[in-house]
Amino acid sequence: PPLDQLIASIAVDIPDFPEPGVVFRDLTPVFADAGAFRLVVEALAASVLEDPRVAALGGGPADQGFDVVVGVEARGFLLAAAVALAAGTGVVPVRKAGKLPRQTVSADYVLEYGTATLEMHTDSLVPGQRVLLVDDVLATGGTLEAAVGLVEQVGGVVSAVSVVVELPALGGRERLRPHTVHALWAT
Ligand code: IMP
Repeated sequence: PPLDQLIASIAVDIPDFPEPGVVFRDLTPVFADAGAFRLVVEALAASVLEDPRVAALGGGPADQGFDVVVGVEARGFLLAAAVALAAGTGVVPVRKAGKLPRQTVSADYVLEYGTATLEMHTDSLVPGQRVLLVDDVLATGGTLEAAVGLVEQVGGVVSAVSVVVELPALGGRERLRPHTVHALWAT
């Protein structure tokens, strides 16, 4: 099946989690399925190639359009390390407040179910380094907007934001403009 149908067939919808009226898309069964996980990781690693702006970002014909993968705690970590390995790059974490041991930049944000702070080591990117930003789900876009801000604060250039699932009704894609969002499944 096409990848979006495969993901849709394995993901599980949890009504009223974490609060009444919210349908939570649980991707953990997709990550647990060896075949689906491989396809998801490879599609995320290739996602920047779909972006017409890649040419403008430099590099030769074999260029993937990014130099490093940044993943957002916690489910983004499951994906980002695998995508980095598939792409032959390193991986850099964006973490919840108070977890990183050295000097950080931080961004407060409002998410679908509350508020939070994300942090990144100040020296975690080389200035000008091109970043593929990865997370599992794009909902309102608050989380990835904060992560984009951190990447840019430490000198990175966002090539694209790539997620497994996008919930288009929540407007995350619009919120992240002008950055390009690649989603393997929109629902
Ligand atoms: P946003 O900031 O509203 O875009 O929410 C995105 C963040 O919340 C991501 O880090 C997701 O892991 C998490 N999230 C929001 N909705 C869902 C969902 O339905 N399933 C799984 N994670 C979700």
